[in-house]
Amino acid sequence: MFYKYDSNEEGPDPDYIGLSLWHPELLNDARGDFLQMRVRSLDFVNRDKRSRLICHQHRDLLRILYNAAVKEKNTQDNASSGVVTVHFDAEVTKIDCDACSVTMRSGEAHRADAIIGADVVRDDVPTGLSVYSTVIPKAVAMEHEELAKLYEYPRSKMVNVFMGHNRAAKVSIAGKDEDVLVGLYTPDSSEGGTWTEEAARDIQEVVGSSNNLLEGLAAHAGPSSCVQIQDHSELDSWVSKSGKVAVIGEAAHPFPPASTHACSVAIEDGAFIGKIFSHTRNSDRIEEFLHAFEKHRRPRCAYILQAEKKNIGFFTLPGGEKQAARDASMRANQAAGVDVMEAPEADMQHIWDDFAKVFGYEPADDADEWWVSWGRFRD
Ligand SMILES: Cc1cc2nc3c(=O)[nH]c(=O)nc-3n(C[C@H](O)[C@H](O)[C@H](O)COP(=O)(O)OP(=O)(O)OC[C@H]3O[C@@H](n4cnc5c(N)ncnc54)[C@H](O)[C@@H]3O)c2cc1C
Repeated sequence: MFYKYDSNEEGPDPDYIGLSLWHPELLNDARGDFLQMRVRSLDFVNRDKRSRLICHQHRDLLRILYNAAVKEKNTQDNASSGVVTVHFDAEVTKIDCDACSVTMRSGEAHRADAIIGADVVRDDVPTGLSVYSTVIPKAVAMEHEELAKLYEYPRSKMVNVFMGHNRAAKVSIAGKDEDVLVGLYTPDSSEGGTWTEEAARDIQEVVGSSNNLLEGLAAHAGPSSCVQIQDHSELDSWVSKSGKVAVIGEAAHPFPPASTHACSVAIEDGAFIGKIFSHTRNSDRIEEFLHAFEKHRRPRCAYILQAEKKNIGFFTLPGGEKQAARDASMRANQAAGVDVMEAPEADMQHIWDDFAKVFGYEPADDADEWWVSWGRFRD
C-alpha cells in the first residue's frame, strides 16, 4: 500500500495513494507465499559505553541455515554429504589466496582446498541517504489508536510504503510476534553506523515532516540502527587469481540496507555453489566451479541490485515534476481500479518486470543447467 510521506492538507493522517498486489499467478509460479521475517529485536545492552543491539531474529535465520548445514552431515544416503564444522566467534584476520589458508584472531590457522568468503560490506561512497531500522512491539503498538490501525486488514498483510521528498519509509507487521518493523530512508544522518550498534541520533530527530502514523511509530520505537546507503565499487572478479578463493553474498555484491532481496540473493549464492560442488569431490575442478559460479550469478545479482537501487530512487524522488507525475499516474490507476504499478510508464513497469524475474528463478536449477550443459563432460 502506497502513501505520501507527508500528511495531506485535510488532516494529519497518511495520504493514501493506492495498492499494488503480487498476482496469485506469480506466487503460484514461485511455488509459495511470502513471509515477512524480522532480522532484529528490541533488546540491547550497554558495552564499552556504546549500545549494542542483540539481533535475535538474525540469529534465528542463522540457526535455520546452521541446522540445514549440520543435517547434511548426517544424511548418509547423500553421496555429497561432507563433514561440516562450525567455529563460532572466529574472526578471520588474514587470508593467503595462494596457500589457500586463513589465520584467525586467536592465531589459529586453517588450510583448505577452497575458501568461500561471506563477510561484510566494504566502505565506499555515501549516497546521502541512510536507513534507520527499528521495531515497535505489538503490545506497544496496540496501545495507540493510530498504530493499532496497522493491524487492520488489509494493512496488516501489506508492506506500507510512504514516499516523500528525498525520504521514504517501509512499515510492515513481521515475525511470529507480529511486531511492527520500520525501515526509514532519511537524508538527515551522515552517521556511519552498523547493524549491531544503536544509532547516535534518535529516529524522531530524523523522521522529518511526516504524518500521525510515522510520527507515532518514531515516538514509540525501540533502539534503532542507522546504516548508510553507499555506492560500492564493483570487484573485478569474485574469484582470486589463484582460483581457490571466492566471495559470495554481501562480500561480492553489497546491497543497500533494507533491500528486499539482499538475504535471498545471498542464500541463492550459497545454494548455487553447494549444488555444483555436490557433483564431484575432484579438487582439480575447484577453479572451474568458482568461475562458473561467478559467470552464472553475477549478471543476476547485478540486475537485482540495479532494481533495488531504482526502487529506492522511485520511492525517494525529490519534490518536482517527476514526483508529481509518479503520484498522478499511481492515483489514476487506483481510481481506475487497476494495480498502481501496472502503468505503461517505464518508471513503473520496471518494478513489475523485476518481480517476475526475481521470483521465477531457482538457483539449484541454474547450477544444474551449467552441470548438464558443461560440467558433466569433464568429470
Ligand atoms: C547482525 C546483523 C543484523 C542485520 N540486520 C539487518 C536489518 O535489520 N536489515 C537489513 O536490511 N539487513 C540487515 N543485515 C544485513 C543482511 O542480513 C545481509 O545483507 C544479508 O543477510 C546478506 O547476507 P551475507 O551473509 O552476505 O552478509 P551478512 O549477513 O552481513 O553476514 C556477514 C557475516 O560475516 C561475519 N564477518 C565479517 N567479517 C568477518 C571476519 N573477518 N571473520 C569472520 N567473520 C566475519 C559477520 O560477523 C557476519 O556474520 C544484518 C546483518 C547482520 C550481520
